[in-house]
Amino acid sequence: MTDYQKSIQEIQEQLSSISESGLTQEEAAKRLAENGPNRFNEEKKESLAKKILYSLTDFTTIVLLVAAVISFYTAIATDHGDYFEGILIVAIVIINSILSIVQEGNAEKALSALQDMNKQTALVVRDGQQQEIDAEKLVIGDLLVLENGAMVPADARLTQTSQMRVEESALTGESEPVEKDAAFLATVDLPLGDQANMIFKGTTVVNGRGRGLVVATGMATQMGKIAGLLENNGQQATPLQKRLNQLGKRVSILALAASGLVFLLGYLQNEDLLEMFLTAISLAVAAVPETLMVIVTLTLAHGVQKMAKKHAIIRRLPAVETLGTASVICSDKTGTLTQNKMRVRRVWSRGDLVTDVEEQMTEEAMEVLKIATLCSDVLVSQNEDGETEYAGNPTEIAIVRAFEENFHTKKELAEEYVRIAELPFDSQRKMMTTVHKKGKKYISVTKGAFDVLLSRFRYGDVDQAAVVNDRFGKKALRVIAVGYRVFDEEPTEITSEFLEKDLQLMGLVGMIDPPRPESKGAIAKARKAGIKTVMITGDHVVTASAIAKELGILKNKKQAISGAQLQAMTDEQLDSQVRDLRVYARVTPEDKIRIVKAWQRTGAVVAMTGDGVNDAPALNASNVGCAMGITGTDVAKGAADIILTDDNFATIVDAVAQGRTVYQNIRKAINFLLSCNVSEIFTVLIAMLVGWGSPFTAVQLLFVNVVADGLPGFALGREPAEKGIMDQPPIPSNEGVFARGLRQKIGINALSFTAVALFGYYLGRFVDGVSHWVPASESVGQTVAFLVLAYSSILHVFNVRSERSIFHVKLSSNKSLFEMAVLALLITTTIALLPVTQNLFSLVPISINHWLLVGLLSIVPIFVNEMLKFHFSPEAEEE
Ligand code: ATP
Repeated sequence: MTDYQKSIQEIQEQLSSISESGLTQEEAAKRLAENGPNRFNEEKKESLAKKILYSLTDFTTIVLLVAAVISFYTAIATDHGDYFEGILIVAIVIINSILSIVQEGNAEKALSALQDMNKQTALVVRDGQQQEIDAEKLVIGDLLVLENGAMVPADARLTQTSQMRVEESALTGESEPVEKDAAFLATVDLPLGDQANMIFKGTTVVNGRGRGLVVATGMATQMGKIAGLLENNGQQATPLQKRLNQLGKRVSILALAASGLVFLLGYLQNEDLLEMFLTAISLAVAAVPETLMVIVTLTLAHGVQKMAKKHAIIRRLPAVETLGTASVICSDKTGTLTQNKMRVRRVWSRGDLVTDVEEQMTEEAMEVLKIATLCSDVLVSQNEDGETEYAGNPTEIAIVRAFEENFHTKKELAEEYVRIAELPFDSQRKMMTTVHKKGKKYISVTKGAFDVLLSRFRYGDVDQAAVVNDRFGKKALRVIAVGYRVFDEEPTEITSEFLEKDLQLMGLVGMIDPPRPESKGAIAKARKAGIKTVMITGDHVVTASAIAKELGILKNKKQAISGAQLQAMTDEQLDSQVRDLRVYARVTPEDKIRIVKAWQRTGAVVAMTGDGVNDAPALNASNVGCAMGITGTDVAKGAADIILTDDNFATIVDAVAQGRTVYQNIRKAINFLLSCNVSEIFTVLIAMLVGWGSPFTAVQLLFVNVVADGLPGFALGREPAEKGIMDQPPIPSNEGVFARGLRQKIGINALSFTAVALFGYYLGRFVDGVSHWVPASESVGQTVAFLVLAYSSILHVFNVRSERSIFHVKLSSNKSLFEMAVLALLITTTIALLPVTQNLFSLVPISINHWLLVGLLSIVPIFVNEMLKFHFSPEAEEE
């Protein structure tokens, strides 16, 4: 007999657990130690050796290694015994591989740390207390509590269900949710999809709630059995990463073609063929921006880390880029723009009797609160300090708190009126009902939005209630209407049609949910950055408008509409108005998708918040889906691109700023690396064309790439946001990465590096007058050219740091970049001064005059850049 064929009692006995109080903590700890954590076996990580091997099969590395072999062969064949070049090339290959592996490892670590922050939790009852635990700590026999929207963390036999429906497509392929029923019992064998009293890991509760005893965890679950087939949730490459990968390939091809040409020229000019061959391939390798992709990954990872520190957890890497382009943020009101700390302010009970609860409580107001408390699912407990704590839906907490603050307890009330059935609240219905037994009578209580319940009230002063509802709304109060019905016999039909009609109106509860203090500033910041904020709420249009006005979202009444008005609009009508509308009230989650799509049709990039099960489609459809970390359901989190761990609107605006910074930093890295690489190709090519021979040896080029470009380049990803990054409009989503003058800048920079390197080479090689002591020679020319290229490359990192003048950027704002640049300068200078390293890098001692020349030429590109910045600077564009 399998679990679904057993009664609840049989299951309890089998698991030695109780379906009211669950396991004890000790028993749970013991079982965890025995059976292990509730997770799937992890995929093995790639070993270091594998990573090294992988990096050695890289195209550029192979070319380099071939170069090393040729170098060794030349050394042996010509008997000059100079193995240094070969050894150096191998050393550089190794250093480059290690650097890349370490940096990539760092980035990976940062990204996988996020996965940990994103861990699933589970609600269980242990020692009779409901608590939230890490889902990995679930054990067999645990009593699971499953709320609407929860991802099921283990396989369980249901012991209690209320309107529970579960989406099991991950397991059965069936996308239509299935009904669950704890009372179901099977006598025959059934497929998973028909086991109505069972619930399985990896599926999601999309309606109602329930409880169940865990029967299997980890690999023993149904999902665990097919875990190998599950989709790999690894990070996908971002669009920019893909585009840059292609760019890298294109530059490689260009470099190969250039090196072919260099070889041909050398051959025609009767240069030493082996040396020429080496120069040609090292040029190819040197010109390939191998570090670019690592730097881009690092920049993204750094951005992701910074966002996490500011409460935005990136679930999908491409979101980092998309955030930078966001032009509209559609935000929920409750909890995101407001604090979600509701407090009852006023209660209306009849005629013009409105009780200001904060001033003085009346008996009539208490009656309304009492009935409303009956229809609430708040958990009341005492903490260690003896203070009362409330957990659950904030609207209900406000009601229960107001009730209990007046010397009553929900517990006593619940004993007097025993709850026997319920129709849970959901954002679509905007109401809920509970059925209670008191003595021989039965009473059903319904509470919800007044306008939704309006037609269901049969008795009471409904007209006056409408007036009060409007008045409360204008004061930014959320209004909950409360009604009831009495039955002589137990109602058998627990449906909305049967219970939620012919109600007696009891009263209205008005509660305030103050805006978050940071919301107003964040909305203003977004506006300055060209981003529109749109409020989408389940609340009443009057309440929503009052808050939207206070926050600066709404300027006039016409910018707010209700869900009903929205539904009456055709898509065309919506398209023509969507740019002006700022508040959508009383909407259902389904309406959100229309709003997203309408904005997208205008060309906007939309960030959308959501927390409920029904928000998932809108989160998916938006460009950046933001799920709430605190109040969000697992379903919403699963559909989102980022999770806001503090549920805060301001966090989205911060994340946008970070997204823009990442994009800006990637452009800086491209400018930095490509300018240098392209200039290397130009310099060698032009020198060869005019018959000067190569200004650089293979090893020198490799040195420049690894030390002068690599070291400072890695630190570019850590550049802080530039001032004014949120004073500009969003980055157009279709903008190429070279847009806004980057291509020209790279071209001009490459030309200026080429000019100074060639000029240095020419003076060192051909002009004796530079120094009396060191006559011109090919080696002197190469030494000067090498130093000029290395120094100007290193200094270029300071040029690319800002669109503004180099003198406006503080060195201390990116210490690691400054340190790396100094280190690179020191290493370069040292190898040029020490006789041993001079030998290794084919450098020769040069005179003071040559050093002065090197210094002068190396700073020329800075002046060129300053002029470029003056021409291209944002200020210049504005003028
Ligand atoms: P937002 O969409 O801004 O986040 P919200 O999510 O709180 O707001 P809903 O939860 O969909 O909006 O609530 C919509 C309406 O349903 C509320 O205005 C209120 O009238 C009613 N309501 C909210 N919570 C409850 C509840 N627990 N019981 C009954 N009615 C409720």
